[in-house]
Amino acid sequence: MNLGMHELSYMAQGHWHGFTDRIGEMTGLDRQRRVVHLAPHVDEFGEVVTPLREIGYDTLVLAVGSQTNDFGTPGVRAHAIALETPADAEQFHRRLVNACIRAHVQTEALRPNQLQVAIIGAGATGVELAAELKHTTRELLSYGLDRLDPTRLGIHLIEAGPRVLPALPQRLSDSAMRQLKALNVTVHTDARVSEVRPDGVHLADGRCIPAELVVWAAGVKAPEFLCGLDSLEVNRINQLRVRPTLQTTLDDHVFALGDCAASPWLGREGKLCVPPRAGRTPASLALGRRDCPAHGRPASQGVAIPRFRFSRFARRAQHGGQPHGRAGRTQPVAGGLLCLAHVRVPLPDAPAGPAWLAQGGARHGSAFLSRGTRPRVKLH
Ligand SMILES: Cc1cc2nc3c(=O)[nH]c(=O)nc-3n(C[C@H](O)[C@H](O)[C@H](O)COP(=O)(O)OP(=O)(O)OC[C@H]3O[C@@H](n4cnc5c(N)ncnc54)[C@H](O)[C@@H]3O)c2cc1C
Repeated sequence: MNLGMHELSYMAQGHWHGFTDRIGEMTGLDRQRRVVHLAPHVDEFGEVVTPLREIGYDTLVLAVGSQTNDFGTPGVRAHAIALETPADAEQFHRRLVNACIRAHVQTEALRPNQLQVAIIGAGATGVELAAELKHTTRELLSYGLDRLDPTRLGIHLIEAGPRVLPALPQRLSDSAMRQLKALNVTVHTDARVSEVRPDGVHLADGRCIPAELVVWAAGVKAPEFLCGLDSLEVNRINQLRVRPTLQTTLDDHVFALGDCAASPWLGREGKLCVPPRAGRTPASLALGRRDCPAHGRPASQGVAIPRFRFSRFARRAQHGGQPHGRAGRTQPVAGGLLCLAHVRVPLPDAPAGPAWLAQGGARHGSAFLSRGTRPRVKLH
């Protein structure tokens, strides 16, 4: 991914879709007065850009996402990287490239943990990363690191449960496992991490997996400030509990969606919440939740919501079926596992209408023309 090209401009998005952007971190809520509290926004030079303030609402939609959940595992903060922000990804990228260059110029034998990458958590993010890293090593050769034997770079995928992609059906898990094996990724299942140390990952059963780079991809939780947000109900990972209409359980005027919402999975009540992934809310609507309030009408009027199609501006395929028509077919994708387990998402900054035609057309045109020369994984 090229940040310069793919980064989302919230202001532009708002402008194209009839929203007004207000910068500030939400820190509190007063449901009685229907206002949200915003902290002052301070820039990198310490200067206040926007002051502490309140913003009133008639209807509030909370979509504040999620953050890494390390479950209090010792050493994760100090020695593991969580791929949460572009800065995290940059850091991982730099450390990986440096590790490879170091090994390339080194004359003495490699240490046991050198060139070993441990990915903790075999959910979609961990599986995808493991597969991509294997492809990276192939490209390294063509970048002049010819003294580096790509087979020395070990990828360890560590999962506490009995199989990879535990949230997905067994057949997808089996298929992913076969592909990971073909890529020589070492998969450790039933492996509960007890600590991450500078030399590698220590497991509860006493084993140690030596690793130079450790990525934590083992779970998410919603932001802490949602706990005790004017007494709205949350679950054990801070997600706001919502009803099938996406209204929070205690307040009809406050909605929550995306990763920060604990949304019941229709047809599987009492058992599961919709798992975190982009577009899950539209997905849940497409799965039958057609009674959401929309266009100012209350839920009781049963407003029909148009069927959402992920494939509208998508350029990648999904693995497995989804109930949204032809997009449910499995299609070959670059990197094989790259998009495994995720629904197809619209291009993030694709505006509607003519603006999309101009910008999207230009982008796809240039992407098409440069695809033969551009590496799939940026190394510099
Ligand atoms: C490495 C990685 C790869 C992934 N790959 C895929 C994939 O291929 N396909 C897929 O479907 N899903 C993928 N996901 C999951 C997907 O990114 C999330 O499910 C999705 O982004 C959730 O959307 P959201 O709108 O709920 O939250 P987010 O996209 O996280 O957006 C929340 C926004 O709220 C802002 N915010 C947070 N707190 C506050 C506050 N207090 N005040 C104001 N603003 C606030 C944040 O800055 C952020 O901009 C991936 C996740 C990761 C970490």
